[in-house]
Amino acid sequence: EDIAQDDNIVVIGLGRFGGQVADSLLQLGHEVLGVDENPELVQQWSDKLTHVVQADSTDEDALLQVGIKEFTRAVVGIGNDIEASVLTVLTLHELGIREIWAKAVSAKHGRILRSVGAHHVIYPEATMGERVANLIASRMLDFIAFDDGFAIAKTRAPRHAAGRTLADLAVRTQYGITVVGIKTHGTDFLYAAPETVVPENAELVVAGSTELVQKFAATT
Ligand code: ADP
Repeated sequence: EDIAQDDNIVVIGLGRFGGQVADSLLQLGHEVLGVDENPELVQQWSDKLTHVVQADSTDEDALLQVGIKEFTRAVVGIGNDIEASVLTVLTLHELGIREIWAKAVSAKHGRILRSVGAHHVIYPEATMGERVANLIASRMLDFIAFDDGFAIAKTRAPRHAAGRTLADLAVRTQYGITVVGIKTHGTDFLYAAPETVVPENAELVVAGSTELVQKFAATT
């Protein structure tokens, strides 16, 4: 298997989502082929991406012409045009692309994408909306929920925690979550140990079931 070739990723639909994916992949050191039917967007991306082409991604011949078969990974960032999104994923699947990532605008859209061959479905609005609600409603400063009911959060430490050790606080038995690390303003992130003392105004990185992490972050 040619590793250099596996590093190349095709991003179809260079809108707000696809554009950001392409940009971040570049920063991570990947070569990116961008595809969009909009000539203005293609022009806009032309000096940033490795290659950008104007093409209709629902057209199998057009995809073959841009050398789609050389790619093992594709991202479909088309969202608003559900028909184009579904047809693009189906075409990629029929062409044997091994790893297809696709954006969905709704749960139903996501189900269709899976059924036509998407290996990974992303719901940017739903995921971000859930995350922001958690930040607004609790002491959380950052929140990542995984599909399997597990979450990691950065939260402000509860007030009663300052000056006490993690062993003393017994967060694991009291709340069912694990404190992974501790940070205060201006200091480095510390991995948490039972004898670690929680400083004033500390931030805790905690992990556990989503429900218990949310409960912990909601207590004062
Ligand atoms: P976002 O909300 O992330 O901007 P959009 O769905 O609005 O997502 O944008 C999707 C992008 O995909 C647009 O730039 C559009 O030109 C492009 N696109 C839509 N349909 C096709 C298609 N059939 N072939 C190629 N590009 C397409």
